[in-house]
Amino acid sequence: MMYGGPGVKTGKDFPIPDTMKAWVLGNPGELKLTQKPVPVPKRAEVLVRIDAVAICATDLEIIDHGSPALIQGGKPFNKNFTPGHEYMGTVVALGPGVDEYKIGQRVTVEIHAGCGQCKRCREGMYTSCHNYGLNYGDVDKGHRANGFTTDGGFCEYQVNNVNTLVAIPDSMSDEEATLVVTAGTAMYGLTELGGLVAGESVVVTGPGPIGLLGVAVATALGAQPVILTGTRDNRLNIGRELGADHVINVRSENVVEAVKRLNGGRGVDYVVECSGAANAVNEAVYMVNRGGKVCLAAFPHAETPVDVAHIVRNNIYLYGIRGEGKSATHRAEAFMSQKRFDATKIHTHTFALDDLPTAIRYAKDRVDDAIKVVVKARGVAAHRVAAE
Ligand SMILES: [Zn+2]
Ligand SMILES: [Zn+2]
Repeated sequence: MMYGGPGVKTGKDFPIPDTMKAWVLGNPGELKLTQKPVPVPKRAEVLVRIDAVAICATDLEIIDHGSPALIQGGKPFNKNFTPGHEYMGTVVALGPGVDEYKIGQRVTVEIHAGCGQCKRCREGMYTSCHNYGLNYGDVDKGHRANGFTTDGGFCEYQVNNVNTLVAIPDSMSDEEATLVVTAGTAMYGLTELGGLVAGESVVVTGPGPIGLLGVAVATALGAQPVILTGTRDNRLNIGRELGADHVINVRSENVVEAVKRLNGGRGVDYVVECSGAANAVNEAVYMVNRGGKVCLAAFPHAETPVDVAHIVRNNIYLYGIRGEGKSATHRAEAFMSQKRFDATKIHTHTFALDDLPTAIRYAKDRVDDAIKVVVKARGVAAHRVAAE
């Protein structure tokens, strides 16, 4: 059978097989390499040949614990579900009526294609779509969040709504392009805080990928000073390279006092909380000045105590953000293609798609100081020793 469907356009330079390699989630922690049919794009969708996919801490959470993935209304285990959401690639087929992108064009993707019809989608808050996860059977609302509610990127091809595509220049490497969505999350956080951060003081807590690119984006937006806090000196040093004016190792000093000392004795205007640590929310609200704003971008594992009285007395604003709404990914990509910061400083390792379990081990155990680990279906030799 030939690949395709009604109204689907393909190109002779990009022959598409009927089946592809795909990792699927079995029981918790169990990934199996299988074959799946190559999906066919519908209206307003394209088929992306996945050229690189980065591993995110949220992937590790989904693979081991299920949440926040939601497949057919429940946990994603043993449902032939393919995780992975931070991918980029080449457009190789166009769904009916698609003329916004061309076959052969390189793109990176954002995760959430909202339903486009609910209140939040109409406001550009498609990561908070009210029809989240409703994309199966009789209740299909057209929502997709690849790697969360629909099949993701640990495979060779995936369909994406045109709304989730971000065109990238040839000067951007595959690995760098996988980081656009991470920078987009940082950009969305700063957008929700008001966006006008030039000359404002910002603390970023937690030097994970979002925190490090949060430093880069805040710096590119003109914030000053930008202060990064964390526990690992090697990551704090990368934060300096990405623009942090000051770094604080929270193991060696009182972080709230240190922030105030570095900001002329005052609390800062904004905190972007990317650590998920148990005391992080309270420390964040103690670090901001009166009327300051705190963005919460990490998923803590347990319920977190919060000093509500301090928040109310001081008119402090708390914003929870999910993912990367309001086209923040496009703004992040613009900074990256303008070389306003070098996101590749957080990319540390690349493996073949066949070596995904090894790549995940590097990301999870931070082997060899791993930060962002990327897997590629082509052009990288597999390390796996063949049984001969
Ligand atoms: Zn992610
Ligand atoms: Zn919606």
